[in-house]
Amino acid sequence: MRSILHCDLNNFFASVEMLKRPELRNVPMAVSGDPNKRHGIILAKNQIAKKYGIYTPETVYSALKKCPKLVLVKPHYEEYVKYSKLVNEIYRKYTDRVEKFGIDESFLDVTESINIFGSPYEIAYKIKEEIKQKYSLTISVGVSFTKSLAKLGSDLKKPDAITVLDYDNYKEKIYDLPVEMLLYVGKNTQTKLNKIGIKTIGDLANSNKYRIVKHLGKLGEQIYNYANGIDNEEVKFYYEKSERKSISKGITFESDINDSVTLEKELLKITSNIAFSLRKMRFKASVISITLKDNMFISSSRQKKIDYTNSFDVLAKNVVELFREHYTLGANIRYICVGASGLRGEDDNEQIDIFNMLENKENIKKDKRKKEVVDAMDKLKEKFGDKIDYASAIEIKNKNTPLDN
Ligand SMILES: [Mg+2]
Repeated sequence: MRSILHCDLNNFFASVEMLKRPELRNVPMAVSGDPNKRHGIILAKNQIAKKYGIYTPETVYSALKKCPKLVLVKPHYEEYVKYSKLVNEIYRKYTDRVEKFGIDESFLDVTESINIFGSPYEIAYKIKEEIKQKYSLTISVGVSFTKSLAKLGSDLKKPDAITVLDYDNYKEKIYDLPVEMLLYVGKNTQTKLNKIGIKTIGDLANSNKYRIVKHLGKLGEQIYNYANGIDNEEVKFYYEKSERKSISKGITFESDINDSVTLEKELLKITSNIAFSLRKMRFKASVISITLKDNMFISSSRQKKIDYTNSFDVLAKNVVELFREHYTLGANIRYICVGASGLRGEDDNEQIDIFNMLENKENIKKDKRKKEVVDAMDKLKEKFGDKIDYASAIEIKNKNTPLDN
């Protein structure tokens, strides 16, 4: 059985602001998107503000109605990113399996660390105390044998607390809780479940799996399993930010090719390799380039700035565009190359993290489904190498199950 921790920084943005301005500890305060605009959104609040019933995300307008003397503070994203990294460095002292789940949450698999650092509870306690002592920030920790239960555990007691859900006690601790406390049970899913009489996690666990699948599809199976303590999803490894600034791949043909359809196909194959490598290293690229060499090996390159991505669809679209702008019809080509540069870590976009926090769980679920398809294809590629043709795989996927609806 695995030992997994879910560590969640409490009132993270608000706590960081209070480090800089301790006087904010004694007043109701909240960090908000745009304090000057009444339709700005509350991103985080301190404990005092919480007592007024202020929640995240709600509008500044409605928060001020509840508490007119609420002190509003602008967010300082660089600071949050800085502390997030420092805290994750502490996690990484205990295991190399640290998976960031947003800017203020991480999963840790400490199964292999028990011999060195003590029981999962002891590890959670050490981590919690070290963060408090070093950075004056508190976390709540869920300790369990699956990711989804660890995540649920960290919600049960906060701030500055540890909740253990082990195999022998998890049922009595979670079965009476409302079903929407489960990971990926958003508003829509909750409504559907409530409609068929499922209100608590216990109701879901004891229901008929096929009935749930009938109403909710694949997600139904997933949450049914979560409620029953079944969740094999692994905690990913934390990858150091590499110094690597670009990757490129090219091929030399045995003879000249002057047919643009064939050349595009070959470019797409390489692009799928690039996308695969980026995802494997957990990078995103902001520049895409192509290089063409003719039979005299005279080379010419073109590049283009794009929004950070490691998605094949986006990279492919831009590669094809560059090629069509650049290639002179009928020219003899001996070598082609695709490059991706301006790289940064997949998790480094604090803005996206913040939006993820605000978006409801249904949206995370959607992203997750898209990610699942891509991950599945990556696994196939790992197994079968270049035999997997991303371009047609994605086309087929799009025809059968549109990813974006
Ligand atoms: Mg948090």
